[in-house]
Amino acid sequence: MEKNNIFEKIISRQIKSDIIFQDKRVTAFKDIRPKYPVHILIVPNTKIVSSNEINENNKYILTDIFFTAINIAKKMGIHNSGYRLILNCNNHGRQEIPHLHVHLIGGELLKNI
Ligand code: AMP
Repeated sequence: MEKNNIFEKIISRQIKSDIIFQDKRVTAFKDIRPKYPVHILIVPNTKIVSSNEINENNKYILTDIFFTAINIAKKMGIHNSGYRLILNCNNHGRQEIPHLHVHLIGGELLKNI
């Protein structure tokens, strides 16, 4: 996994990114290397390295992240055709960036997993 957490810099706007939504708890921005017509990342604003760090105190962030993703899917008009939400964790899950994130992908017929 990368040592520098690029997502923290995106959240704090230290580096430029295509942010499409931000509130007190979450930020959503376009993936820099989109693999699908719609490819958005939704992240918590506070540093949570991976889903392994979810606990009793911070578990509500998952609702914020997934609710934001669903609202973005609706705003982008892919809610009826459908979409997929993906959360990668650690090496076997192919998590590259050590900051919890959910991928919202869609805009075309996705392959079966
Ligand atoms: P993951 O493999 O789940 O950790 O996914 C990390 C994702 O972050 C990949 O799809 C990358 O294309 C994306 N990514 C890496 N750097 C940036 C960046 N600066 N802005 C937007 N997306 C990025």
